[in-house]
Amino acid sequence: MTKFVALLGYPLGHSLSLSFQQAAFDYYHLDIRYQVWETEPAQLEAAVNQLRHPTSLGANVTIPHKERVLPLLDELDKLAIQIGAANVIVNRDGRLLGYNTDAPAFIKALREDGGFEPSNKRVVMLGAGGVARAAGFALVKERVNSLAIINRTFERAEELALSLKGKAGDIKIIALPWSETELGEALSNCDLLVNCTSVGMKHSSMEGQSPLEARFIPKDALVYDLVYNPIETPLLREAKIAGACTLGGLAMLVYQGAASFELWTQMKAPVDIMFMAAKQALKG
Ligand code: NAP
Repeated sequence: MTKFVALLGYPLGHSLSLSFQQAAFDYYHLDIRYQVWETEPAQLEAAVNQLRHPTSLGANVTIPHKERVLPLLDELDKLAIQIGAANVIVNRDGRLLGYNTDAPAFIKALREDGGFEPSNKRVVMLGAGGVARAAGFALVKERVNSLAIINRTFERAEELALSLKGKAGDIKIIALPWSETELGEALSNCDLLVNCTSVGMKHSSMEGQSPLEARFIPKDALVYDLVYNPIETPLLREAKIAGACTLGGLAMLVYQGAASFELWTQMKAPVDIMFMAAKQALKG
């Protein structure tokens, strides 16, 4: 009997997850289809309930449902509860379990692909949306020295800083408005700059734009852009001009997907195959 995994989000254009998850299922000759279910918020509950069907292995969850899906699930793992968001659902005999694989994937890519050890480092994070929540939580868990959150809508930066402070102990967490002065000061003293905004994302209104110019980027910092399409984002180009080291978002995307694959199938994810398929899809 053919099984399926769904991707729940809205809107969903061309999905990279479809390319690399299907490649992983096909690599093991598994009779599983990865299906893209464009799901408006009002349809979310009905879509989630369809995941209880015996042919369903579960789902990936993306913008804008990662937070609002939580009350629709039967059980949540500790990380999903702590972060307040789930990006993976697993169907176990009609019971739906929620997981967060974004946060560990963010750190795995930072360590293994960026060669960066986050503990005791000074971090500046641009953005305060869904992925910033997972990244901020992961950085606090890794005991960074300080975290400055800068967001276009200042109130969201404040709200995220406040929610992380409860878990931060003596880590300095501050929210800053998006202004040249604040950016310049925070960035001049940072070891890691993480872009959690969608600025620069292909097929968006901000395609081709960088959230920062090279003059703001310290040459000794690592610049980690979570945007994965294009592979070399406008921010990464500016970082290279500044002489900084760079890391794109594709590794994190593939690692969160590999962890999802392992939760659905209990098999080791063919990470190299998934990377190849993702890169191929990006070229296409
Ligand atoms: P989200 O919840 O919609 O948050 C979007 C963030 O971008 C907000 O902080 C928003 O600021 C900011 N923003 C949007 N337009 C902006 C502009 N013109 N100038 C400055 N800031 C702007 O989205 P998300 O889920 O956090 O995703 C953010 C990005 O990360 C997306 O490009 C997504 O593809 C990428 N992502 C990558 C991975 C990965 O595995 N690599 C995983 C998840 C997400 P306001 O609060 O002011 O609106």
